[in-house]
Amino acid sequence: MDGGRFLYRRVGYERVFIYGFWRRYRKYRRGKDADRFNNLVGRFFKALGAMATNKTVYKRDSYAGAAHWMIFWGFVVLFIGTAIVALDFDILKPVFDQSILVGTFYKWFSLFLDVFGALFIVGLFMMLFRRGKKPPQLDYKRPDLKPEQYDRSGYQKDDKAFLWLLIVIGVTGFLLEGLRIAAEGMPAFEVWSPVGYVLGLMLGGFGPETLHPYVWWFHAIVVLGFIAYIPYSKAMHMLVDYANLMFKDDLAAKRLPKVSPEKMKEGIGYRKIDDFTWKELMDFDACTKCGRCHVACPANASGAPLSPRDLILDLRTYADATIGNGTSEIFQQTFSEGVKAGKGGKISIAGDIIRADTLWACTTCMACVEACPVGIEHLTTIVNLRRTLVDAGTMENSLQDTLANIGDYGNSFGQSDRARAKWTQGLEFKVKDARKEPVKYLWFVGDYASYDPAVQQMTRKVAGIFEKMGLDYGILYESEKNAGNDVRRIGEEGLFEMLVEDNMAAFAKSDFKEIVTTDPHSFNTLKNEYPEFGSSYAVHHYTGLLCKLLDEGKLKFSKKLRHYKVTYHDPCYLGRYNGETEAPRKLLRALGVEFQDMRRCGANSFCCGAGGGRIWMDDSKLEKRPSVQRIEEALEIDGVNLFIVACPKDYTMYTDAVKSSGNEKRLAVRDIIELVEEAM
Ligand code: SF4
Ligand code: SF4
Repeated sequence: MDGGRFLYRRVGYERVFIYGFWRRYRKYRRGKDADRFNNLVGRFFKALGAMATNKTVYKRDSYAGAAHWMIFWGFVVLFIGTAIVALDFDILKPVFDQSILVGTFYKWFSLFLDVFGALFIVGLFMMLFRRGKKPPQLDYKRPDLKPEQYDRSGYQKDDKAFLWLLIVIGVTGFLLEGLRIAAEGMPAFEVWSPVGYVLGLMLGGFGPETLHPYVWWFHAIVVLGFIAYIPYSKAMHMLVDYANLMFKDDLAAKRLPKVSPEKMKEGIGYRKIDDFTWKELMDFDACTKCGRCHVACPANASGAPLSPRDLILDLRTYADATIGNGTSEIFQQTFSEGVKAGKGGKISIAGDIIRADTLWACTTCMACVEACPVGIEHLTTIVNLRRTLVDAGTMENSLQDTLANIGDYGNSFGQSDRARAKWTQGLEFKVKDARKEPVKYLWFVGDYASYDPAVQQMTRKVAGIFEKMGLDYGILYESEKNAGNDVRRIGEEGLFEMLVEDNMAAFAKSDFKEIVTTDPHSFNTLKNEYPEFGSSYAVHHYTGLLCKLLDEGKLKFSKKLRHYKVTYHDPCYLGRYNGETEAPRKLLRALGVEFQDMRRCGANSFCCGAGGGRIWMDDSKLEKRPSVQRIEEALEIDGVNLFIVACPKDYTMYTDAVKSSGNEKRLAVRDIIELVEEAM
């Protein structure tokens, strides 16, 4: 019996591995169905492409992406190479008296393995170096607890153990190769193993024949130990993350899950581990603690008690502890004082495991979902937990009042539905009523654009421009209701469905072909969520429509606005949620302004802090509001004088932020429509 087989029989590493894997699988089986088995072949290859190119890791962090690429491909090539050596050595040679590792193939095989082995080690040291520099994303400091209330040393040890085990495996692998080459008398063809050959030259004087078996045993023990350790550690991401990417919902967060009528009756939200889907339970394990979501999160950046990373890790600990995969010590250590105090065994997930103020801090900006390299869908989980809070009535009074207004009047301002189209009064032209005459475009105006006095002037400008271009459009007047995007993200699913029903009924009574809206929030739900309720209209944001009309020559500018130096804020629901980042920029280019993007732009834009109902909640406890941080970011641009927005809520948020931060003289907030009007 050779050493490897002996080790396997005595220690049973594979059994330790299988048991660990089974514990994970047992956990996922507790989750409810996630409906992710459509287009399996497409999903398989898409995830394979993402893994092979490492594109999700490169995104937002090219250094980590490059290092991870080297580690990933180094590992894959070494794994396959070792399997080929085992096949040659254990099967082909003894059974068939044949070998494939000879001649030219052997030389190229050796070179390939050495190059990727070297990349593997370089990548690992790059990661080690990065950790040494303590970047903010790798800081485990929590925004919701005091340092004495939690302990992340276990995670830190796991991070280090994972890196060092791989380094030891890589280095001892090369040492073995060098010792073998030296023991064989440095054959000339082994120069095709350049790293091993150089090590052979260096180790030749140290008794390579004697040293070789010791290093072999050490290497074998570490490798087998590593395999056994995979399902219990960070190394598990090597297996889970592929599956997590494969089963990711492309519309995650953009389209929130519907609730069945039965579930509506028995109480929506999450109360026990079985309420999570298996994909969510897998999400919790897939987290590599890379911290990209943590640093992208506007709530975390503003001093709110929310870090999407910690939320996922807490839910992982909860899930493990609940099904007996973790010890109660870990459970006690990790969670907040409320949990430690105990509630007679009745700990609620939304409220105790994840605090209510943590859940309410989320602006639903989706930055976490977009930044996560392994396909975790934080936002869907957050909204599902919010649904539990809404069901129990655990929310701020101001939010409760707004929801009541929307329920009673169909708008968040609590005004009469007859006042919805008041902004049309005094216009020199009549805005068509899409319920009474056929139009090509239904303009879904939205609450802020309809009722907010400051935004109404913008709405009138949009109407004026549509009119000038001869656009065939109309509105729903008092039949329009709040589209429900934010209502749904607050977690008020019942009210959302009522709003959809009302709006769909108004659509059915009207005659139009396509929908246009100035509000990115309405745009998202009309485009991504209404189709599940039967809507089949093409939906445009007004910037996209104006671009189309610009291309068709229907929108013309009579002058260039060269005197403005502008920057543009991508609204989360337009840029990140729906990938519409080019149309506003194209308009700005056509307007002739001097344009410069902020540090964070496009899909990487930074939220204003209004989404998911936050605009109706108290933000006085935040250290620095996201909107103020964003204005400061804009002012980093030399000479900028206009801050351009394309969302009614952004207009409100940033006008206020410019005032409250004392920057009124330096920067003015304008909707892009104002520049369009000026240039026409
Ligand atoms: S959606 Fe935005 S605010 Fe909410 S957790 Fe994710 S990054 Fe933070
Ligand atoms: S949730 Fe995703 S982005 Fe956040 S720490 Fe985990 S792996 Fe990184």
